[in-house]
Amino acid sequence: MKKHNFYAGPAILPESVKKAASEAAYDYKGTGLSLMEVSHRGDDFVEILDNTEKYVRKLLKVSDDYAVLFLTGGASSQFYMTAFNLYNPDDKVGYVDTGTWSTKAIKEASAFADIETLASSKDKNFSYIPRGYKIPKDLKYLHLTSNNTIYGTQTKEWAKTSAPIICDMSSDIFSRELPLKKFGLIYAGAQKNVGLAGVTLVIVKKELLGKTEWHIPTMLDYRTHIAKNSSFNTPPVFSIYVTMLNLEWVLEQGGVKAMEKRNTAKAKLLYDEIDNNPLFVGTVAKEDRSPMNVTFLLKDNTKDAAFIKKCTEAGIVGIKGHRSVGGFRASMYNAMDISSTQVLVDVMKAFK
Ligand SMILES: *Cc1c(COP(=O)(O)O)cnc(C)c1O
Repeated sequence: MKKHNFYAGPAILPESVKKAASEAAYDYKGTGLSLMEVSHRGDDFVEILDNTEKYVRKLLKVSDDYAVLFLTGGASSQFYMTAFNLYNPDDKVGYVDTGTWSTKAIKEASAFADIETLASSKDKNFSYIPRGYKIPKDLKYLHLTSNNTIYGTQTKEWAKTSAPIICDMSSDIFSRELPLKKFGLIYAGAQKNVGLAGVTLVIVKKELLGKTEWHIPTMLDYRTHIAKNSSFNTPPVFSIYVTMLNLEWVLEQGGVKAMEKRNTAKAKLLYDEIDNNPLFVGTVAKEDRSPMNVTFLLKDNTKDAAFIKKCTEAGIVGIKGHRSVGGFRASMYNAMDISSTQVLVDVMKAFK
């Protein structure tokens, strides 16, 4: 039976990517060796790494002012690594708290940096994106989470500030066009919209680095990874390969502009059903709704199990909401086809 994968992460990959990855896992391009058992210094992997960087630059129009890095440790390591590399005592840095992942970024940076939380949507269980908050003029950087995977909100208008924005884009990078110049650093764990768990994409403006007073341990210093082309130590070879395949697929589909169109169509289909079906209700402010993670409830939650059962029968997996919101969460990353969204909408209609 065909499965419709709505998991929030690790998440859906395109069919062609899964097939190519499976082949490479056994025999990479007829070399008689698995990609998992060859040197990361060999020509094959160096080519993969170069292509992956090239695709990132092409898709997001990244100039040479920025370095593109493939690191380990997940987006979670970037919560402290960003601050450790960019903050200096007496600097003013601002954070916006839009839910679990932002809260974690704030906690990690607070361990050694004197940060200011400029705004928070905690008062309403993170169901909206704060607007109109005051941004100090002399801010060193502003940290945002572009898409809140758990709560289902997305930042649509970027803050008006001349300070570089440091942004966790783990769950919506490559899903839409970006004004790249506004960003000093972008990071994303790969397992949602980029590729496979194990690699973390970092895009950093080089001129922001090298200005801290303290000693940064070698592995935590972005400059190490820039100097060694993300191969200071053994990189996650297979995860990077899957990332390359996935970005190649995005390019073939027409790039992030085409992805944005595709994601907007899926989001409209599902949100329209949530708004028009009397059994369901969305959990976040309409203007902040995420096209990536759609969170909604049954007004009568005693029917939750019955709805999940109908979904399962239709081949839908990963629809259960995160415990901090409850109800349901439909994650519809780039690789999901609108036909899967249609299956979910049909189940919702039939449930009525
Ligand atoms: C999943 C997620 C993370 C955590 O990523 P890891 O790679 O598992 O550390 C961080 N931020 C956001 C927005 C996420 O969705």
